[in-house]
Order: sequence, then C-alpha cells, then structure tokens
Amino acid sequence: MGSDSQQYDILILGGGPAGLSTALHLKQRAPHLADRILLLEKEHYPRFKLCAGGLTADAEALLEGLDLDASEVPHADASEARFDFEGKGLKISMPKRHTLRIIRRDEFDAWLAEKTREAGIEIREGVSVKNVIPDANGVTVTTDQGEFRSQVVVGADGSNGATRRCVLPDAPVHTARLLEIITPTQPSPVFSENEGGQGRGLVAFFDFFAVPEGIAGYTWDFPTQVKGQPMRCWGIYDTNMLANGSRPPLKEPLREEMARHGFNLDEYQIKGHPIRWFDPSNIFSVSRVLLVGDAAGADPLFGEGISMALGYGMLAATELEEAFSTGNFSFSGYRRRLARSALGHTLFARWFIASVIYPLKWRWFQILLWRILKPVVIAASWIFILNWGKRMRI
Ligand SMILES: Cc1cc2nc3c(=O)[nH]c(=O)nc-3n(C[C@H](O)[C@H](O)[C@H](O)COP(=O)(O)OP(=O)(O)OC[C@H]3O[C@@H](n4cnc5c(N)ncnc54)[C@H](O)[C@@H]3O)c2cc1C
Repeated sequence: MGSDSQQYDILILGGGPAGLSTALHLKQRAPHLADRILLLEKEHYPRFKLCAGGLTADAEALLEGLDLDASEVPHADASEARFDFEGKGLKISMPKRHTLRIIRRDEFDAWLAEKTREAGIEIREGVSVKNVIPDANGVTVTTDQGEFRSQVVVGADGSNGATRRCVLPDAPVHTARLLEIITPTQPSPVFSENEGGQGRGLVAFFDFFAVPEGIAGYTWDFPTQVKGQPMRCWGIYDTNMLANGSRPPLKEPLREEMARHGFNLDEYQIKGHPIRWFDPSNIFSVSRVLLVGDAAGADPLFGEGISMALGYGMLAATELEEAFSTGNFSFSGYRRRLARSALGHTLFARWFIASVIYPLKWRWFQILLWRILKPVVIAASWIFILNWGKRMRI
C-alpha cells in the first residue's frame, strides 16, 4: 500500500444503476456509513451508455423503495409489450399503467447520480480503475488518479469492468452480444412501402423469428425519445447459448426485421455492446469484494439488467451493513443471500427458461410457444419472471 493512498471504508467502483443503487440503499439502511463511502466513475455525467433503456415495473418498484420517481426523467411509455414469432404472438400489458417506461441512459444515470449526491454520498467522476487487489486487511485500488485503500470494494463497473477481471481472472464468463440502432418513428419515404409511414405506435415489440437461425434471443423495437423528440430504438440480442463456436451474424436478422417495417438499417448508425449474464455457477464475491449488476450477471433470457442492477444494489447494501456490524468481511453468505432473494429467484428462473427454450430451435416450437401456449407463457411470466421488485422490499 502506498503511504499517500486515500482511505475509505467502502469504495464503489462504477456509477451505473448497480453502483448508485448500492450507495442509495446503504444510505437508507446504514446512514452512519454514508460519509465513509466513495464512488468512482470513469466517465463524466451525463455519459453515454448503450442500452435500450426499458424500465420494467420491477425497476420502478425498486426506485419507489428509495423514494425515487422515474417519471422525473425524460421518457416514452409503451402501453403494451408484444412477444412475437414472425410478427404474431402474445401481448402483455400492465393493468392501469404503462407496461414499459423507456428512458435514455445518459439522462437516467445522471439523474440517479444527482439523487445519490443529494443523499450525501461522494462521487468522483473521471477516475478510471486499473487494478483491484484484496488482501487480509483491506483492498488497494489503483486508478489513473492515484491509489485508494478501503475496507471493502463493490465492483459495479459493468460487463467489461476491471473489478471482476482483477479478482476472478480465471472465472468463466457468459456474455450476450447486442446491436442497437436509433431511428425516427417513421421510415424514410423512399424505403418505406410496407407501413405507409404509419410507424409502430407506443408498443414495445420483441420478435423471436431468428431463433431457428441460431440466434438465442430476439430483435426489439421500442418507442423512445431523444432530447424530447419521439424516436424508435431497434436492436438484436443473442445470449450466445447456441454459439457452439460459430456465431451467426447479428446484423442480417436486424436488417430483415427493420426492412419488414420499412426501415433501411444502412441509413443509421449501429452500435454494439456485450452483457454479462447470470449463470448459477457465477462467482459473486471474494473476501472483501462484492460484485453487483452486470459484473455479477444480468438476465440471460431478455438481457434485462437495469432492474437487476438496482436489486443487486439492495442486496449488497444489506450485506455491507451486516459486515460492518460483525467485522466479518468474507462475504461468504452473499451467494446465499442472492439465491434466497426475489432477485435470485427471477434470475434463476430466467436462466433456466433461457437454457431450455433457446436450444429448441425448431420453427414449430417457437410458434407453439409464442402463439399457441399464450396463457401458459403469460401465467409462467407473471409467476416466475415478473413482479419480483416489490418482493425485494420485504
Ligand atoms: C444494447 C443494450 C440494450 C439494453 N437494453 C436494456 C433494456 O432495455 N432494459 C434493461 O433493463 N437492460 C438493458 N440492457 C442491460 C443494461 O444496460 C445493463 O444490464 C445495466 O446497464 C447494468 O448496470 P450496471 O450498473 O451493472 O453497469 P453499467 O450500466 O455498465 O455501469 C457501469 C459503470 O461503471 C463505469 N466503469 C466501467 N469501468 C470502469 C472503470 N475501470 N473505472 C471506473 N468506472 C468504470 C462505467 O462508466 C459505467 O458508468 C441493455 C444492454 C445493452 C448492451
């Protein structure tokens, strides 16, 4: 340890929803720890984060538990979500409310960071973590702005983060591939013949037509807004569960889906980013270091990760509160805490469902699933996948 290293009790590495939620839940559960926390973020808010920005009711329930109201952030609301195979399938809508609230992550994360600062937590922006070295008495964190020393570290630095790579260099990783495109609501008139410029309304679409082509996932098309202007967010998600060494190109199915609705992919900027997903064999902590959010593992079924990141933050705060009251920083109970929580239940269910349904690539099975077994799929989603955010409060 360098003698000039800066000392804290809790260092949170990464200021996305997982890190900010950890800080906010710590403030709520253990306010005496608040002025001993430092959050390090490599970018400056509002910073770009590739994400479709779909906030489920579970994400909003977790924010409400922190007395936060996501409607303060610019958003577009989808009144229903459609889960289709080749354009036909089932519809999910939430009674008396929007089904999916879509935010832009630069705005959402900057808002959440502001709320965290208002709660009295110190955030240092523009500090990039390079190395994380736990030892028997604490953790040394090396950054491009000097060295920090703390009792414990929370690795909240996302799918490509440094924390997990430093503390678990040999652990296997499960990562999904994603591409995303933002377009206007209407296709350009030259290309559009299919929809006569009607657009797709305030509906969030998921289409699993590419599963038989070896894509273990779906294409999406959400309403969104950029600087107050209504737009559409398109993308494709592949868990890579079917990869077998070969990875089918993602651009072609996305091009196909966009073309079906009158949009020409080549007219727009395309961006890609991975998501590290939850597998029950993942390692979630080592002595003195907890992982949260994508660093621990997001949902493999849909690649949903914002609500999960918020949920991990709550679990990590509880774990930290207990560690500081007992003086035991091994975090050996964190896996069990996750497994027993509503977050752990939904992640396990989603991993199990993804592992079963994506490898069944037959076209007839996908038709059966999304078009014929509708009531079964809706009931199973309601029981095993959705509605976990409120249960995290108990
Ligand atoms: C294309 C795409 C679409 C998606 N769409 C959705 C969606 O609609 N709904 C949904 O729920 N989820 C979606 N996700 C998943 C979601 O974006 C993530 O699960 C979520 O952002 C995880 O939050 P996090 O806080 O763990 O990590 P992140 O949001 O990645 O935050 C990590 C933070 O750590 C910082 N950081 C990284 N490295 C360092 C370092 N070395 N030093 C300091 N700071 C560092 C980063 O700058 C960042 O601020 C999508 C993901 C992708 C890629």
